Amino acid sequence: MKAIRLIQFRKPLELQEIPMPEFGEKDILVHVRAAGICHSDAHYRAGRSAMGFMPITLGHEVAGVVEKIGSQVTNVKAGERVCLHYNISCGDCYYCSTGNEQFCNTVKMLGHHVDGGYAEYIAIPARNAIPLPDEIPFEAGATLMCASATALHALGKGRIKAGETVAVFGVGGLGLSAIQLARAMGAVEVYAVDIKQDKLELASEYDAIPIDASRINPVEEIRRLTKGRGVNVSVEMIGLRKTMEQAIDCLANLGRAVMVGLNQQPISINTYAQVLGKEAEIIGSNDHLVSELPLLVEWARKGILDTSRVVSQVIPLDATRINQRLDDLENFTNDVRAVIVP
Ligand SMILES: [Zn+2]
Ligand SMILES: [Zn+2]
Repeated sequence: MKAIRLIQFRKPLELQEIPMPEFGEKDILVHVRAAGICHSDAHYRAGRSAMGFMPITLGHEVAGVVEKIGSQVTNVKAGERVCLHYNISCGDCYYCSTGNEQFCNTVKMLGHHVDGGYAEYIAIPARNAIPLPDEIPFEAGATLMCASATALHALGKGRIKAGETVAVFGVGGLGLSAIQLARAMGAVEVYAVDIKQDKLELASEYDAIPIDASRINPVEEIRRLTKGRGVNVSVEMIGLRKTMEQAIDCLANLGRAVMVGLNQQPISINTYAQVLGKEAEIIGSNDHLVSELPLLVEWARKGILDTSRVVSQVIPLDATRINQRLDDLENFTNDVRAVIVP
């Protein structure tokens, strides 16, 4: 079969003809119908993260049709449409058995530690397959498995309750999902903070209140709009020191700031004024859980989470085209969200 693979760091991905993947008795073989091209893939190609092995097939946002099932598989059948949870955990360790499989001692990510979805076929444990309803196109199903799922997990960590207010810092794929999901979880007001006009306009189309941080101080603006109280929950999706500090600073008493954007720099907080005096919480959020995905898919099926505008380009399993998109992501020259349809 054909697969687009990372042979060497800092080199273009290459098309390789490789054997069909082998699959065990608890695994399934999936005919890939869509694989999202994600910013992480650009990081992998650039050598910023150790890979499980090389050459390796990239692609962790995958949807397709079950081609064959192992002898012990009961949850899916051949011919069914599925999307794939990208973290493959052992199912038995302390973390797996307590429902926190993102910390599994041997967790492996599709397209990072094991071969992913930039290929015609992929093999994966059957428990990683989530049924994909007919109403959701494969392209949208694939992209649900990354940014939207991570946004849902983050909002869960923030424990949003009906009637609360939410501030979303960063209106990319994560932020746009977070805006809609916060609404679905009962938020009455969602503030969207960004510095790009087109993103703020998109946020307001999804009923968020846009705050242009290139012109005004977002913390002051959030305080003004909430009658001085601040928001109940903030989610930081950018990973900048400044926006992390703002996400904490804009909290109301008992507020929860959820950190999603990656940042290696220390941040500065006034522990009395910003945390203990307010009984505020700063919460880390890392990836998502397989148990969260069926609800996400259901919200997408019902249109509560709009997936119709996520994918802006569909490309074939073509190394040149895929490398071009990764270049765009690497250089931030193009916001196009591309999905490979082999
Ligand atoms: Zn991704
Ligand atoms: Zn485990």
